[in-house]
Amino acid sequence: MNPKIFVSMLLVGAAYYVGAWTGVHQTITPEGIAVLWPPNAILLSAFLVLPYRRWPLIALAAMAAEILADVPVFPLWAAGAFGMVNIFEASLAAVLIRRFVPTPFNFDRLRSGWFFLLFGPLLVSGFAALLGAGVYILLGRADTPYPALWQIWWFGDALGLLLLTPPIVVVWRWLEAGCPGLRWRAAVEAGLLWLVIGALGLKAFTASPPATTELYFTQFWFVPLGILAALRLGVLGAAATVTLIAALAVGNLVRGTHPYISVGPQYAVWLTQEYLTIVAVVSVGLALLLKEISDQREALSKNKRALQIYNEILEARVNERTLALEKSNQALQEANQRLAAIAAIDELTGIPNRRHFREEAQREMSRLGKDGAEATVIMVDLDHFKKINDEYGHEAGDVVLRAITGPLRQSIRPRDLMGRMGGEEFVVLLSGLEKKASARVAERIRAAIEALTVDYRDAQIRLTASFGVAQWDGQGTLDDLVRQADDALYRAKANGRNRVEIVDPSTQSA
Ligand code: GH3
Ligand code: MG
Ligand code: MG
Repeated sequence: MNPKIFVSMLLVGAAYYVGAWTGVHQTITPEGIAVLWPPNAILLSAFLVLPYRRWPLIALAAMAAEILADVPVFPLWAAGAFGMVNIFEASLAAVLIRRFVPTPFNFDRLRSGWFFLLFGPLLVSGFAALLGAGVYILLGRADTPYPALWQIWWFGDALGLLLLTPPIVVVWRWLEAGCPGLRWRAAVEAGLLWLVIGALGLKAFTASPPATTELYFTQFWFVPLGILAALRLGVLGAAATVTLIAALAVGNLVRGTHPYISVGPQYAVWLTQEYLTIVAVVSVGLALLLKEISDQREALSKNKRALQIYNEILEARVNERTLALEKSNQALQEANQRLAAIAAIDELTGIPNRRHFREEAQREMSRLGKDGAEATVIMVDLDHFKKINDEYGHEAGDVVLRAITGPLRQSIRPRDLMGRMGGEEFVVLLSGLEKKASARVAERIRAAIEALTVDYRDAQIRLTASFGVAQWDGQGTLDDLVRQADDALYRAKANGRNRVEIVDPSTQSA
């Protein structure tokens, strides 16, 4: 057999025996009325804590202890019957309680308290008392009627369960968990409280003539002291305090030195049982409620902390993502810029294309317009370019087109703009020059192109270009200006090419 099982069997059996012995010898009034029956609390605690498969051996140990405790006083068959009734009571109550309270069972929430109260002291012990009282009747010794026997059995069992099950279960679980959180402050507080209770109990539970000074030492004080125990010492402290109060009350009751001498022995027992029940339910119940509240609060703060951590993780992730997004955004912007640059530049010549020139020129013109400055558009068209293509090939034409940008750029200032309009047509925008100066620039370009020699393979290609110049005085759009320059260019072609034509002011205003 597993030594652990053997030890638990032995312990439960021994405790049951001590409980039964105490029940028989220490809780019976001089008139033979049992005030409380402790062993069932031990058995119920064992059934609440231990797994179901251990129950048969535990029941066996309880039966042995019951017979050992009873046999000198009762015949063997009666002792066996009492044992059966008690085992039946504890096991049925435990099954019912465990059905409704989450495992592992402990007195650590209000629900445990409610279902323990309902199935332990209230229902099952009342039911078992029907059987127990029956065994008493069969014994033929009692002169007490069956209903009274039943009530005595029930109340004794119920009080035993109520007072002792909570401390036994809580201590058991506490030992199982390796005795965590023993607080010296609480131990000192408990010691002081119990000292006060003990001192008060010397007076409050004894029979004494009602002297005025002694009215202060009544049983009333144990109610606030029980509540104090619940507030300061938790479930175990409250249960232990209630047990101490019960020991004082029952001790005086069984010695016949209790304060209820005048009401008759049976009624005195009931009064004491009733009183102890109230103290136990209030004190242990309050301790359970407080424990539940503090557990919930702890769970809540744990959840809150978890939520905070989760939030931090989330925030870190968002930051990471944002950073990555910013990086990819930057890359995209750079790519866009490269793309825009590609889209703005004419592939063949490397100078701004028509679209880009227009944008730049419009921006420049609006700036110039604000300053009241002038601008000039010069349209450049190579003369007989088709011939170059025809004579030297298309590749030669490309080389010439590239070469032409040299004299163009060299003839203008850095702030002036130039672009390729398409084919062999170029455009220049001069900033802030008046008409005559503009004409001189156009002439300079023309001369530079005329002087240009383009080497292509063995050939030296010479060429000329025709120019149309339109002057802007702040009125009209770029497109108007380009059209006018085109007209002038047409005239330059018509008038023999390789020349500059300036827009006639009389037609310009049209
Ligand atoms: P004009 O003096 O009247 O301007 O005569 P032109 O031959 O220069 O004018 P035309 O418009 O008849 O011909 C322009 C030629 O330019 C036709 C076309 O093949 C050529 N051309 C246009 N774009 C390119 C290009 O990118 N590369 C080359 N090699 N030739 C081009
Ligand atoms: Mg042309
Ligand atoms: Mg041409």
